[in-house]
Amino acid sequence: MCILKNSLYQSHEIVSRVVCNGDIVVDATAGNGHDTAFLAKLVGAGGLVYSFDIQESALNTTRNKLEAENLLNRVNLIHDGHQNMMKYVNKPIKAAMFNLGYLPGGDHNIGTRGGTTIEAIKSAMELVVPHGIISIVVYYGGDSGFDEKNEVINYIKTIDCKKFSVMQTEFVNQINCPPIFVCMEKNA
Ligand code: SAM
Repeated sequence: MCILKNSLYQSHEIVSRVVCNGDIVVDATAGNGHDTAFLAKLVGAGGLVYSFDIQESALNTTRNKLEAENLLNRVNLIHDGHQNMMKYVNKPIKAAMFNLGYLPGGDHNIGTRGGTTIEAIKSAMELVVPHGIISIVVYYGGDSGFDEKNEVINYIKTIDCKKFSVMQTEFVNQINCPPIFVCMEKNA
């Protein structure tokens, strides 16, 4: 078993260190519901997950997964873009997870976009509590292209270091553009 883990693993590992029973969190990209279910388990029966996606089919898959795992009652599924997060979330959050790109098994043309992703990251930065975490797994290359990755990576480098600590990790010698992991912690 490898010691160095991929971006998805790292995102789950860090988020699971901060999210506790009863917390409120955001899954900015529901997709097939894996991250929403992961978060729903972490927040427990007393917590709440706001889970966004622009595709009805993604939300249906997520709903089915949550129902099967008896987790639906702690998740608010929202059929809207994460850039509109502030319309729906009006309490401080412990963490927000972004898993960028297109829906696996879905239409590769309907993916996240740099402009709206950055708007949503800014909203999450407002909502997150001190020492809360924003995790972003950035898929790029192939059908995702490079625009969003370039915009997001350029943006995170401009964030005020007094307000957030921002970290980026990636494998530098793998083929096929392995996803990049970005993690932001709000400073106290
Ligand atoms: N986290 C998911 C999981 O656990 O299966 C995978 C997410 S998938 C890589 C990206 C998702 O983002 C797609 O389902 C896509 O529809 C969604 N998406 C694209 N633009 C969006 C937006 N502006 N707001 C919310 N979701 C968006």
